[in-house]
Amino acid sequence: MKAIRVNENGGPEVLSCEDIEQPSPGAGEVLVKVAAAGINYIDTYQRSGLYQIPLPSTLGLEAAGTVAETGAGVSQFKVGDRVAYTNVAGAYAEYAAVPANMLINLPDGVSFNEGAAAMLQGCTAHYLCRSTYPVNVGDRCLIHAAAGGVGLILIQMVKMLGATVIGTVSTEEKAELARQAGADDVILYTEQDFQSEVDRITDGAGVNVAYDSVGKATFEKSIDCLAKFGYMVLYGNASGPVTEFNPATLGPKGSLFLTRPTLFDYVATREDLEWRSGEVLQWITEGKIKLRLEHFFPLAQAQQAHEALEGRKTTGKVILTP
Ligand code: NDP
Repeated sequence: MKAIRVNENGGPEVLSCEDIEQPSPGAGEVLVKVAAAGINYIDTYQRSGLYQIPLPSTLGLEAAGTVAETGAGVSQFKVGDRVAYTNVAGAYAEYAAVPANMLINLPDGVSFNEGAAAMLQGCTAHYLCRSTYPVNVGDRCLIHAAAGGVGLILIQMVKMLGATVIGTVSTEEKAELARQAGADDVILYTEQDFQSEVDRITDGAGVNVAYDSVGKATFEKSIDCLAKFGYMVLYGNASGPVTEFNPATLGPKGSLFLTRPTLFDYVATREDLEWRSGEVLQWITEGKIKLRLEHFFPLAQAQQAHEALEGRKTTGKVILTP
C-alpha cells in the first residue's frame, strides 16, 4: 500500500510516498481503509523534529474510513463500519491498524471528511473550552489563529457557551471567516498590535482566557491581555516554541494561571474519548458546529499540503485523500 513516510527530520521535502506492506490487525485491533486522513499542525512538528518520533515512521494522527478487517477478540466493530480515530500514528496511508478501543463509530449524518476533522481538531477545541478553562456565560476569550482548523471550531463552541470572542488572524479573508464562525471582534495581528486592540475592545478589562496556539510570537502579549485570575492556555507553537518564562511574573499581573495542555491527556480514557467525540459529532450532526472543509490533497501530495499549512495558506481543515 502507499504511505507517506518520514525517514529523517526536515522540511516538507522529507515526506516521501512509498510502497510499504499493508498492516494486518493484531489482537484487539481493527484494519481501517482510510478515506480521509486529517492533516494537523502537530504532523509538521513530528516531521521537523520539534516533537520526536521514532524514525522511519508513517506520519498522521487522525483519520476516518471503513473497517476492512478485524483482529482477534474484536466484537464491537465489523467489516464495513464507518469509523474515525485520533492519537494512533500512521494515518497518512491507504490502511491503518488501529486499536479497537481508540475507534469511534461515525454517525450516519457525518461524512468521512467531517469525521477526520472532528477527532483531533474538534476534540481539541472541546477540551480547551470545556475542561482546560471551562468557559462561562459572559466570559471574554481571545483566540489566536482564529481561522485555522482548531480556531474556527473553537470560536463556534465558545459562542455556544455564551462567551464573547476576540479572534486574531493574518489576513482580511481569514478575518471574514472568523466573523462568519461567530467572532465578535477580529484583529489582524500582522498589522495591528493585538494587545492594545484587546485593551481597547475590552475597555481595559482584559480577557478571562487566552487560547494561544501561535506560541513564540504571541505568548508574552497574550499574558498581558488577561484580566485578573485569567487563564493563559498555551497549546501550540505555530510560530516556534516558547522556551523562556519566569513564573513569578504571573503574580503581579493578576494572579494568573498558565497551562500547556495536550489533547492526548484529555482523551486518554475511553470515557473521555467517547464523551468529547460524542458531543463534537452530535453538534456537527445538529448543524451547531460547521466544519470548513476546503483543502484536499491526494496522498502523494502530502508535501504540498504541509507547505500550504506552514505557509499560512489554509483555513479550516486540511485533508489527505488516499
Ligand atoms: P491551523 O490551521 O490553525 O494552522 C496554523 C495557523 O497558525 C496558521 O494558519 C496561521 O494563521 C497561524 N500562525 C501564526 N504564526 C504562524 C507562523 N509563524 N507560521 C505558521 N502559522 C502561523 O493548524 P491546526 O488547527 O492544525 O493547529 C493549530 C494549533 O493548535 C497548532 O499550533 C497546533 O500545534 C495546536 N494544537 C494543539 C493541540 C494540543 O492538544 N495541544 C491539539 C491540536 C492542535 P494566521 O495566518 O491567521 O496567523
